[in-house]
Amino acid sequence: MRGDSASMKVLRPATADEAVRMYARAPKALPVAGGTDVMVLWNAGLLNGRVVLDLWGVEEWRKIRVRKDGILIGALATHARLREHPAIREKFPLLSEACATVGAEQIQNRGTIGGNVANASPAGDTFPALAVYEAVVHVASAKGRRTLPLSQVFAGVKKTALAPGELIEAIFLPMLPRRPDRRVFRKVGQRAAQTISKTVGAAVLFLNKDGTVEELRVAFGSVAPTVRRLRAAEDALKGRLLTAASAEEACGLIERDISPIDDMRSTREYRLRVTRNILRAFLWS
Ligand SMILES: Cc1cc2nc3c(=O)[nH]c(=O)nc-3n(C[C@H](O)[C@H](O)[C@H](O)COP(=O)(O)OP(=O)(O)OC[C@H]3O[C@@H](n4cnc5c(N)ncnc54)[C@H](O)[C@@H]3O)c2cc1C
Repeated sequence: MRGDSASMKVLRPATADEAVRMYARAPKALPVAGGTDVMVLWNAGLLNGRVVLDLWGVEEWRKIRVRKDGILIGALATHARLREHPAIREKFPLLSEACATVGAEQIQNRGTIGGNVANASPAGDTFPALAVYEAVVHVASAKGRRTLPLSQVFAGVKKTALAPGELIEAIFLPMLPRRPDRRVFRKVGQRAAQTISKTVGAAVLFLNKDGTVEELRVAFGSVAPTVRRLRAAEDALKGRLLTAASAEEACGLIERDISPIDDMRSTREYRLRVTRNILRAFLWS
C-alpha cells in the first residue's frame, strides 16, 4: 500500500512549548523532524491514519548556540548545517566530518541531528563523534526538561531511553580542554555515498609533553547494538608511550567493548579487522 497523506492527521507546533503540549495530548503521535527515516514508513503506507507531530516549524530547535562552555545544537539542525557551520568545524570537526558522510546531499539537507539520535540505529554515523565529544542530550516534555549523557540515551537497537512524551530539543557538546593532538573520523561502507556503515569510528588523542598518552577517546558504531567507547583500549594506553607494541596491545582489547555481528552488510570478522586497522593506523602509523 502507498502512503496516503489525506488519511494522516498532522499536528504543526510553532514553538517548543506547543510541541510538548501537543505531544502530551496526542501521545500516540509520531514525531517527525526532517522525515528522512519516517518517509520510508510513509512510503510503505505504515503511517496511513496516523497522527504525526511535525516538528519542522519549531524555530527555536533549529538554532546553534556557541557558548563559552560548549555548543548547544538545536535538535532540528540538519547534517548540511553541521557540515558547514564554522564553529562546529573548528571546535568539533569530527561531527562535521561525520555529517558530511550521512546519505548524500539530499539526506543531509533534510535529515537532522535530533532525528539521527532519536532513530537510534546501531549505524548512526554521528554517534561516534558525539560519544567522543561526550555529548549531553536535552529533552523536554510537558512535565519539564532534563539532560542525559549520550551513553544513557541508547537503550538498544532502534530504542532510546526517552520517556513517553519526551522530545529531543538539543544536543550539547562541552568544549574540549584544548585542541587534540590527533583526531580521526572513518566510515567504512560499500561505497562512498548512500551507504550504511559496516564500521564507523571517531577518536581524539591528547599527548603529554613527554609524548605519553594523556587521554584517548575512541568510539565505534555498527559493531554493537549501540555506539561504544573502547574503554579498555583507552585505559590501557593512559600514561604510556605510543609504540607498535602498545598500539597492538590496545587493538587486542577492542572485543572487551564491541561485539559485531554477521548481517546482510558485513561479517563479524570483517568489522573486527577493519575496526582494529582504523585504530592501529590512528595510534601508530
Ligand atoms: C537514503 C537514506 C540514506 C541514509 N543514510 C544515512 C547515513 O549514511 N548515516 C546515518 O546515520 N543515517 C542515514 N539515514 C538515516 C536518516 O537520514 C538519519 O538518521 C537522519 O538524521 C534522520 O533525521 P530526520 O530529521 O530525517 O528524522 P525523522 O525521519 O524525522 O525521524 C527519525 C526518528 O526520530 C524521531 N524523532 C525525530 N526528531 C525527534 C525529536 N526531536 N525528538 C524525539 N524524536 C524525534 C521520529 O519519530 C523517528 O522515529 C539515511 C536515510 C535514508 C532514507
